[in-house]
Formats: sequence, C-alpha cells, structure tokens
Amino acid sequence: MKQELIRTEKMNVVSQLAASVAHEIRNPMTSVRGFMQLMQKEENLTKEQHLYISISIEELDRAQGIINQYLALAKPQTDQYETIDLSSVIHQSIDVMYSYAILNSIHITQQVESGLEIEGLKLEIQQVLINIIKNAIEAIKSEGEIWISAAKQSDGYVSIQIKDNGVGMTETQLKKIGSPYYSTKEKGTGLGLTVCHQIVKQMGGNIMIKSELQKGTCFTIHLPLKKQG
Ligand code: ADP
Ligand code: MG
Repeated sequence: MKQELIRTEKMNVVSQLAASVAHEIRNPMTSVRGFMQLMQKEENLTKEQHLYISISIEELDRAQGIINQYLALAKPQTDQYETIDLSSVIHQSIDVMYSYAILNSIHITQQVESGLEIEGLKLEIQQVLINIIKNAIEAIKSEGEIWISAAKQSDGYVSIQIKDNGVGMTETQLKKIGSPYYSTKEKGTGLGLTVCHQIVKQMGGNIMIKSELQKGTCFTIHLPLKKQG
C-alpha cells in the first residue's frame, strides 16, 4: 500500500511535465496528418506511394494514442466531476472497440445492468474501459471470447468485469502490471494500466486482476455508485 502511493507521487511529477510536452506536440502533428490526407487524394499516385502515405497516417495515429495516454496521467480534476450514466458509457466503449474485435475474430458478450450512475469524468472512465478491452483483445490475438458485465453490489459499489480467454499471465507478470512502462508487447507503452489505476483510484474505486497462464484474465473494476437522495 505504502509503496503504491510513492510510485504514484513520483509519477505525478514526471507526468505533469510529459503532459505539457505532449500537449504542445499535438497541434503540429494534427497539421502533418492533414497534409498527408490531402496528399492521399492526389491523382496519379503509385500503389507504393499510397501505401507509404497510409502507413504514415497510421503511425501518426499511433503516436497520437501514446501522447493521449501521457496526457491522461496528468492529475484529473475532481472538482469537474459530474453524474455519469455508466451503463451507456460501457456500451459506448464496447462500440468503440467493436471493429477491432471483429477484425481479430473475437466475439464480445455483454450483460450490463441499466441505470448505473457514478460520479466522475465520462471521458476518463471511457478511457479506462477502452484500455482494458483493448488489452483483452491483444491478449487473445485472434479467435476468442470477451465477456463484459456490470452490476450493482449491495455495498454501494458497482462491479464491472472484463474477462478474456487469452494468453493469461504468470504470477510474476501479474505483480508487475500497472507499473509505468511495463509492457510485454513489441509496440506497447506500458502506460495503459498505469492510467487506468490512477483514474479509478481518483474516483474512489479499485481494480482487481485474476489471471491464469494460457486460460485467460479477468479484470474487475469497483466504483462507488452515486448516492441516492
Ligand atoms: P501495453 O498494452 O502498452 O503493453 P498496459 O499497461 O495496457 O500496456 O499493459 C501492460 C501489460 O500487462 C501488457 O503488456 C500485458 O503483458 C499485460 N496485460 C494487460 N492486460 C492483459 C490481459 N487481458 N491478458 C494478458 N496480459 C495482459
Ligand atoms: Mg494496453
């Protein structure tokens, strides 16, 4: 517990700086992407030229994604918290990842209770869900199942589960995940779960992970429900 807090504090100093750099870089990148798109519309391009431009745009988008993760590490503003319809945010997040799943022959099953309300920031909770669903897809690689459920608990919390039948993790891996920059992927940043942990903790919740090698992984997110009254 103590160690976790130190890690987060250190991260905050680094992340504030990273976030401001990331913010500055976004504008020129958007402009480069715009020109690339214009170039793609040129007639008389060879097949190769088309391919090179497409790859450039994809790589720019990937860089943008990494930058967004750094930006998310900057301390969230709790005073901007609002009431969120969590049920629809979960549906939206699944929709966002749907084509990525289909592309990899992965089936998503969902059972989401309606009318779940929490206090927080919509874009941030959506980012948490997208990060975890994306990891689940990448853990399966191709052909598999993801189960997503959300239900009220009796203790005033909601429990969101995201379960996959992917590669799973060893105990050693499980202990390391969530530490900044820890990734087993060739093009991974190892920031996704660091961001998730920070956002959920800020909203008064936690994330539990169960995993078994070659069997799969289950992420459970607990968040306090909005108090009635
Ligand atoms: P990245 O996805 O960029 O590697 P993350 O912080 O999102 O960074 O994840 C860190 C690491 O945790 C991953 O590289 C992977 O090894 C492991 N991991 C996360 N989710 C899963 C999962 N559902 N199944 C197996 N391993 C996972
Ligand atoms: Mg990830």
